Amino acid sequence: MFEQQLNSQAETTRRSFTVALQEQESQMQLLASFVAADPEVQELFNYGARMMKVEADSTGDETERLRLALFREVAASWQQMQASHDLRQLHFHIPPATSFLRVHAPEKYGDDLSPIRQIIVDANRIRKPLSGFEIGRIYSGIRGVVPVWYTRQDGTQDYIGSLEAGIALGTMLNDLSDLIGGELAVMLNSARVEGVVWDNYKPAMASGCKCYFESATSPLLAEWLHAGVIDLKPIESDKTEVSTFAYDQRRYMLVRIPLYDYVGKQNGQPAGSVISWHDITGAWSEHQQGIAQLEWMLFGSYILIQMLLLLLLHRLRNLMQRRIDRATSDAQKANLQLLAVLKDSPVVTYSVTLPGTTTDYMSPNCHELTGYAADEIVGIENWWVDNLHPQDYQRMQEDDQFNVPLGDVQRRRYRLRHRSGRWVWIEDRCRVVELDDGRQILHGALVDISAQQNAESALAASERTLRRAQAIGHVGSWEYHFADRMMTLSSEARRIMGLPDDVEADYALFISCVHPDDRDQVENAWHAGMNGDKYDIEHRLLVHGEERWVRTVADFQHDDSGVLLATGMIQDITPQKIREQELHRLATRDMLTGLASRRHFMQRLEQEHGRVKRFGSVCGLLMIDLDHFKQVNDKFGHAAGDEVLRSFARVASQQLRQIDILGRIGGEEFALLLPGTDEEGSCILAERIRVAVELMLLDEYPDIHVTASIGVSTLTAEDQATDAPLLRADKAVYQAKSEGRNRICVAAASLVPN
Ligand code: GH3
Ligand code: MG
Ligand code: MG
Repeated sequence: MFEQQLNSQAETTRRSFTVALQEQESQMQLLASFVAADPEVQELFNYGARMMKVEADSTGDETERLRLALFREVAASWQQMQASHDLRQLHFHIPPATSFLRVHAPEKYGDDLSPIRQIIVDANRIRKPLSGFEIGRIYSGIRGVVPVWYTRQDGTQDYIGSLEAGIALGTMLNDLSDLIGGELAVMLNSARVEGVVWDNYKPAMASGCKCYFESATSPLLAEWLHAGVIDLKPIESDKTEVSTFAYDQRRYMLVRIPLYDYVGKQNGQPAGSVISWHDITGAWSEHQQGIAQLEWMLFGSYILIQMLLLLLLHRLRNLMQRRIDRATSDAQKANLQLLAVLKDSPVVTYSVTLPGTTTDYMSPNCHELTGYAADEIVGIENWWVDNLHPQDYQRMQEDDQFNVPLGDVQRRRYRLRHRSGRWVWIEDRCRVVELDDGRQILHGALVDISAQQNAESALAASERTLRRAQAIGHVGSWEYHFADRMMTLSSEARRIMGLPDDVEADYALFISCVHPDDRDQVENAWHAGMNGDKYDIEHRLLVHGEERWVRTVADFQHDDSGVLLATGMIQDITPQKIREQELHRLATRDMLTGLASRRHFMQRLEQEHGRVKRFGSVCGLLMIDLDHFKQVNDKFGHAAGDEVLRSFARVASQQLRQIDILGRIGGEEFALLLPGTDEEGSCILAERIRVAVELMLLDEYPDIHVTASIGVSTLTAEDQATDAPLLRADKAVYQAKSEGRNRICVAAASLVPN
């Protein structure tokens, strides 16, 4: 009879525990459902989960941002649930069982739970709520796992993943212990704990059995185990074990029932056991004294336990209702928080179901970017294409940017028309993902990059202006880095030097472009520049075999790191040089004949006179006057006369050396300086010229024959005035004329007094 009563009490304990466990499981499911039903949670979890796929990384920037937003969203409810019912866990996972966010340990995510958390794998597979006791990485507890769906605009639903709420067994044991008036402990088989629970989170190992103490309402059991009073063999069968024993002059009743976790329920293998013990010292002695009393006591305790059980259920229901109410208000609060978070986020997310151009989601913060509310964009066919800048539309079409391939993240930049009419530069990072049902969805994140883009275009514009200015002014810029001997050249500098854009330039290449005759000059200036002298030179380049005149100016400076740097400009001055040379020619040359002008000849005469005076060198001087030239003009015209003058210049020049200087000093009067030639040599040359003129024939005027009278003189050191030898030669010409023309007369030095 006493034994029967003990068994009956043990069964009651087992029933109480089972009922309490079931209640807790459904409560966890309920709590998780409340969080999972929150549309804002769904939205954040949806985009977080998609971003994780898009970024193919649980730590991608956008995923992290969304995870954080989701955490913030549920943080307040989480805290309240923790405080009010010791909730231990709130955990989002994506199929098959990857941790997306542990609200209870937000720093740990991304791990694959499938090897150890069958309940999550199953819930994600069948997409239905599941519950049970399961040993996890952080704690072992009672868990409710519910599916999380995302409801799209058109009412269809996408499966996102699962959400789990969990509570530790210990919390329940305390409640239960008060109600049944005994102590309770949960032991876990060590084989089930090893390799699953992270080391930091492992419970205490119990001595005397191959098991861990998951939780206990009293330390007595540990003491008994330690003292060897009781022996806990691994529990195997589905039996309820009941025993009594004496310890410290008291008698105890020990009830042990198997604890099945989620997997164990299916394969019949318990994960551990629940142990309950009662002090039955009083009942035991009465049992020794009489059955009647014991019967009464046992009947009374049976009734009591049934009542307590009802009370427990009632309490749990009340508790649950309170929690549901709280969760509802938390969800509302969290909603507002989410909206605030999204409102401030600069990243607008969207999605489009392909093929198609209709946006089926736009995050609510799109108003700032577009000027429209999300529901003014969502579902409107071609909204995006209609608001694209026509230039970008064309460019993107040419570059095939409308067809985003499956897989990779694409970066697109374009302008969208804001409601106000202005264009907003957008960077769009998007990706096409394929859902389990084969649908392809384009997901993207939009950011306003107008400020950056405007700065970039301003920079590009100023670069264009500079390039244009350089091209107009034929000025190029360059930089020479002494550290790596490389030269950076602007495109105009490359054009001037005749270097293609793709050729890397260094100093050697630059020198090879310089005209061979000017290389020494350039290298000397370069070295002087390195030593701090001014570098500003004009020299020639050889560009494709043609001479080109440039001016190069450079500044040699040490940069911040102490490396010498030459910054310079190169200007194509060929046109100026040509003009200059022309001006010089105009100033020094006679227009008609190309010979030295009178002015230039007089300068050269003065130079040679100086030389004669200083060095005692010799220099002959001839004065040549064409005979009866007036008649040529009169007979054949002025043009013919001009032709005779040109012809004379050519014929006479052919007789000369490079250093001789023939000038036209009057209408048909010429003078010739012969440096290094004495009077005798001058006479020989004069004769050659006279003969050449006499024999001179003009193609166009075959009837014209001219002769010349030539006076020979020399420069002397004694002459004070530069034109003195010229006057002597002139006299000699005069003499030649008077002697019959077409002849040579030598001026006597004495003829002209100084
Ligand atoms: P003479 O033998 O005495 O030197 O006789 P001439 O006719 O050569 O001498 P004169 O000094 O009388 O005449 C020079 C002429 O040269 C006068 C002028 O018409 C002509 N003349 C001067 N400059 C030019 C010119 O540039 N072109 C042409 N066609 N004729 C010129
Ligand atoms: Mg004359
Ligand atoms: Mg004459």
